[in-house]
Amino acid sequence: MNRYVTQHRRDAMALVTASVSLTWAELSTESARLAHFLERVAPEARHIGLRAANSADYVIAVHAIQLLGKVLVPLNTRLTMSELAGQIETADIDVLLVDEPIELSITQFALTSRDEASLATPHEWADDEVMSLMFTSGTTGRAKAVKQTFGNHIASAEAAKTRLGYGMSDRMLIVTPLFHMSGLAQVYRSARFGSTLYVEPKFDVVRTLELIETARITHISLVAVMLQRLLDAGLSRHQLRLLLVGGGPVPRPLLEEAERRQLPVAQTYGMTETCSQVATLLPSEALAHIGSSGQSIAPTQLRINADGEIEVNGPTVTPGYYRQPEADAWTPDGYWQTGDLGTIKDGYLYVHDRRSDLIISGGENIYPAEIESVLLRCQGIQDVGVVGRPDPTWGAIPVAFTVGTFDFDEAIQLLHDHLASYKHPKAWIAVDELPRNANGKLMRHRLKEADHDSSR
Ligand code: AMP
Ligand code: MG
Ligand code: MG
Repeated sequence: MNRYVTQHRRDAMALVTASVSLTWAELSTESARLAHFLERVAPEARHIGLRAANSADYVIAVHAIQLLGKVLVPLNTRLTMSELAGQIETADIDVLLVDEPIELSITQFALTSRDEASLATPHEWADDEVMSLMFTSGTTGRAKAVKQTFGNHIASAEAAKTRLGYGMSDRMLIVTPLFHMSGLAQVYRSARFGSTLYVEPKFDVVRTLELIETARITHISLVAVMLQRLLDAGLSRHQLRLLLVGGGPVPRPLLEEAERRQLPVAQTYGMTETCSQVATLLPSEALAHIGSSGQSIAPTQLRINADGEIEVNGPTVTPGYYRQPEADAWTPDGYWQTGDLGTIKDGYLYVHDRRSDLIISGGENIYPAEIESVLLRCQGIQDVGVVGRPDPTWGAIPVAFTVGTFDFDEAIQLLHDHLASYKHPKAWIAVDELPRNANGKLMRHRLKEADHDSSR
């Protein structure tokens, strides 16, 4: 019985947005009607691109595509037309489902399309069948399509349940894009465990606080900057059982503030190539292992190779990149090399940085995230990004991009108190905002480009 939507109480709430509320019965009918439409108008299509903002129709479309047994390819709404054309080609997308027509010559259907009739027989998925192709979020500049199988998605949902507990009575709020892994993973979890999904078009601090209170949200996935903004705006616990924070390191002061307010923050580590989290630090462990992303979730195994890089093996790991096998990162004994640097102490994983973000200055390794975390403690620094700048003497020196007005002496004092002097930024650049991707993740390669341009 390899249907990925389990049977849930038909009158229980499945999906809620500002304008729509659907029970499981209604959600299942809507998706079966879209599936029937797609089968009728595009029977030959294999790869179906989905380009739309978060909405109820987005979730309906995900289910429709998977009911049909076709491959879902979520596309980033922020891409330029030429980037989008590149991804359509890379992933061999046959047709697109869109919330607004785009100016490319490819067959497109409205996300809201439905037939009167419903698809009769849903596809039964085998474990090794590719269910989605998801582009990595592109913080490194190159987009690759990651193959994700039915087995990967199920193992990921089960791992989340094992470590964190998910059930029918949970209410999960999505404020990150559904075209990235953390968002999409919630759709699969809710389908499997029967939790109610609350979907917001984007992250809005006031609206998020309101939903946490009035809709009694139990689970929410965030990146660190979002948590920061929620804390600044007065977030308190209400019914929250879990704030999952992933996608990048969570600065220590944020964790301490969350702890003061008794907010159950769980840090997670994962990537598109592992279909979401492979390690999670439970709220109860947070203070004893501050800065850690937690322990791996069995049966997944993590290890650190001789170069300090994290390697992973387990049922959520992708079979590889679509049509770019040369980019696959397998070791001879079947571990996937993540490209992230880390250490494991007493079974707890500490993620440092991307290998490519590491600054090597005078032979010393400098992790940008470590400097950023210290500078964020400085009153008035709202956001900060550190990159390496090529330097004839040192090889590279750290440069800090800051957002906000702050007391420079205070920043220097903090650095002095917490970091060896070779880690102190040697140049400072004030900016209005940092380049972050749709998930809020810092795009360090963009900062490097900006630094290159400014220092010419
Ligand atoms: P993506 O493949 O776009 O989902 O991004 C995954 C990448 O985000 C990882 O390879 C890491 O570089 C970064 N990342 C995810 N979680 C963490 C974490 N807890 N700490 C540090 N970096 C993280
Ligand atoms: Mg990645
Ligand atoms: Mg990425």
